[in-house]
Amino acid sequence: MLSEDAYSQLEEALGPENVSREPAVLDGYAWQAFTELVGMRDGWTPFRPAAVVLPGNTGEVQAVVRICNRHGLQFKAMCVGWGVWNMVGGENVVQIDLRRMDRILEIDEKNMYAVVEPFAICAQLQAEALKRGLNCHIIGGGSGTSPLASATSLVGYGWSGLTTSYSGRNLLGTEWVLPDGELLRIGTPGSGLDWFSGDGPGPSLRGVARGYCGACGGMGVFTKCALKLFPWSGPTQPEVDGLLLDIQTEVPQNHGFYICVFRDLESFAEATYRIGDAEIGYMHCKNSIGALLAAMAPRLMKKVVNSTALKAALTVQRHMFQVLIAANSPGEFAYQRRVLKQIISETGGILLDLGSAPPLLSMFWWGFVRAAMPPLIFRLGGSFGTSFGGLESWDHPVLQSKVAADLKRRFIEEGEMIDDLADNAWGGIYEGSTCFGHQEELYLYDPRSPEQMKSAEEYMAATFEATVEHNLGPGLGFALGSINAELFGPIIFNYQNWVRRMKETFDSGDVSDAAFYISLDPKKTVREAMERQPVMSRFLSRRLKELEEEDEIEK
Ligand SMILES: Cc1cc2nc3c(=O)[nH]c(=O)nc-3n(C[C@H](O)[C@H](O)[C@H](O)COP(=O)(O)OP(=O)(O)OC[C@H]3O[C@@H](n4cnc5c(N)ncnc54)[C@H](O)[C@@H]3O)c2cc1C
Repeated sequence: MLSEDAYSQLEEALGPENVSREPAVLDGYAWQAFTELVGMRDGWTPFRPAAVVLPGNTGEVQAVVRICNRHGLQFKAMCVGWGVWNMVGGENVVQIDLRRMDRILEIDEKNMYAVVEPFAICAQLQAEALKRGLNCHIIGGGSGTSPLASATSLVGYGWSGLTTSYSGRNLLGTEWVLPDGELLRIGTPGSGLDWFSGDGPGPSLRGVARGYCGACGGMGVFTKCALKLFPWSGPTQPEVDGLLLDIQTEVPQNHGFYICVFRDLESFAEATYRIGDAEIGYMHCKNSIGALLAAMAPRLMKKVVNSTALKAALTVQRHMFQVLIAANSPGEFAYQRRVLKQIISETGGILLDLGSAPPLLSMFWWGFVRAAMPPLIFRLGGSFGTSFGGLESWDHPVLQSKVAADLKRRFIEEGEMIDDLADNAWGGIYEGSTCFGHQEELYLYDPRSPEQMKSAEEYMAATFEATVEHNLGPGLGFALGSINAELFGPIIFNYQNWVRRMKETFDSGDVSDAAFYISLDPKKTVREAMERQPVMSRFLSRRLKELEEEDEIEK
C-alpha cells in the first residue's frame, strides 16, 4: 500500500501536478502490448502501479528512488513504454515515467556522439544529427523509441546495424541513479571529463549496467547517456511527404536500395559474409517475403496463402535480404554497386534494383533510414511476437532462422497461427566486416482470438525446447521476464547466479522492480509463472526441482 505520507512526499518532491494515483491514469500504464508473455490474454498486466510520477530532472529521480527506499516501495522506470516489459511486477511499485526528461543535451560533432535524456526519441535525435552530416542508430521498434532506453536497458537490434551497430555497443558515458538513490557516472563523465567513453578508469561497469540485453528497469534509473553517432552521406534536411506506404521523397544520387534473393540458405549466408568482407553497404537486413506482403498488402496475403501454387511461388523467394548503399561520391557509389552485383552473381542470387521503381525506392529508402515501418507489422493479425534472435557469428543466426521456420510451419499447419509463409526471420549483420548478426523469427496473431493467443503461447514454449536442442542461446528471452535467466542460465554457465549476485550487491532490498531482469526469490517467481502459464510448466517444473535441490544442499 502506498501510504498518505509516502504520497505527499512524492508530491512535495515533484509538485502535485507530476504525481498521480488516479485509477484511470494508473490503468493507462497497466494496459500493455504482449501481455500473453506473462500469461495474461486480455491486454491487462497483472498489477496496477501504486502511483505514477513524472520527474523533470536527475535530482527528482533520486528523490523518488529515496522515497521508495524509505517507504518499502519499489519503482520501475520507463521511457516510451512500448511493451509488457514496462509493467510493474507487484502491488507496491511506483512507475517512473520519464517523459519530461526529453532533451538532447549536446551533440559533439567532432567526436561523433550525442548526450541525451531518457525521453529524447530517435526521430528527434536523428533530425538533429542529419543536420550535421551524422546519423544515429534506430532500433527496429522505430523512430518513436528512446535511444537511451535501448542503449542502457533493452536489446537494441535495428535495420542499419551494418553501419550503426546495436544499441548496447553505442553506449558511452552514462549517468545512473542506483537503486538506493546514489548517483553514479560511469566512464569519462565519472572523472569529470567529457562523455566520450563508457569505460574506466579501472574495470568497466557497462556489463553490470546493461550486459547483453539490459536490466529492463531492474537496476535503477539511467538519466543521461552519450551515444555514438555515425557518418551520414544523405540530405541534411530530407523533404518527406506522406506516411508509411505513401512516403514520397527524393532519394540522393549516391544512394541505392536493392532486394537480393537466393535459391537457398547457404548462398544467402555466403553472400552476407562476402558483403561484410567487402565492407560495402549502409544497411543489410532480411525482411522476408512473408513480412513484406503481410505489411504492405495484408488482404492479398490472406488470399495468397490459400492458393498452393501462389504460396509455393512466393515461398521459394524467402531467402532474401535488402541492402542500402549510401555512398559519399558517384565513384564510391559505382564501386559499391559493382561489388554488390558481383557478390550476388557469384552466389547465384538475383538482384532487384529499386532504382527502376522510383515510388518503391522512395518508400523503402526513407522507411528504412527513418525506421518508419514498424507500425505496419500490426496490419495482418493485430499483434505479433518474436523469438530466437541470439546475437552470434552469422552461421548461427542463419541456423536459428531455419530451426524457427521449421517449428513455426508446424503451428501454421495446425491452423491456429497466421500464415506468413513460415520463414519470417528479421535481422542482419552488424558493424561492417565483423559478421556477427542476428535473426529473430517473427510470428503474427490476432490478440482477440483465444485460439491464436493459446497457439502463440505454445509456440513460445516450443521455442525453448528447440533452443536447448540446437544450442541456440537465450536470444530475446528477456521478453519472458525474470524466468528467462532461470530457463537458460543453467545451460549457459549458470549465468543466472552471477546476475543474481550483481542484483544483490547493488539492490539487496529489491527496490528497483526486477520482474523483467532477475528474481531474488526464484522459487516463488517460477511457481507464479507456472500458475499463470501452465504451458511453461514442463520446463519450469524441472527448474523448480533444481532450485529446491540447491536449497537442500545449502542447508
Ligand atoms: C513493434 C515493435 C518492434 C520492436 N522492435 C525492436 C527491435 O527491433 N529492436 C529492439 O531492440 N527492440 C524492439 N522492440 C522492443 C522494445 O520496445 C524496445 O527495445 C525499447 O523498449 C524501445 O524503447 P522505449 O523507449 O519504448 O523503451 P521502454 O519500453 O520505455 O523501456 C524499455 C525497458 O527499459 C526500461 N527502461 C526504460 N527507460 C529506462 C531508464 N531510463 N532507466 C532504467 N530502465 C529503463 C523499461 O522499464 C523497460 O523494461 C520492439 C517493440 C515493438 C512494440
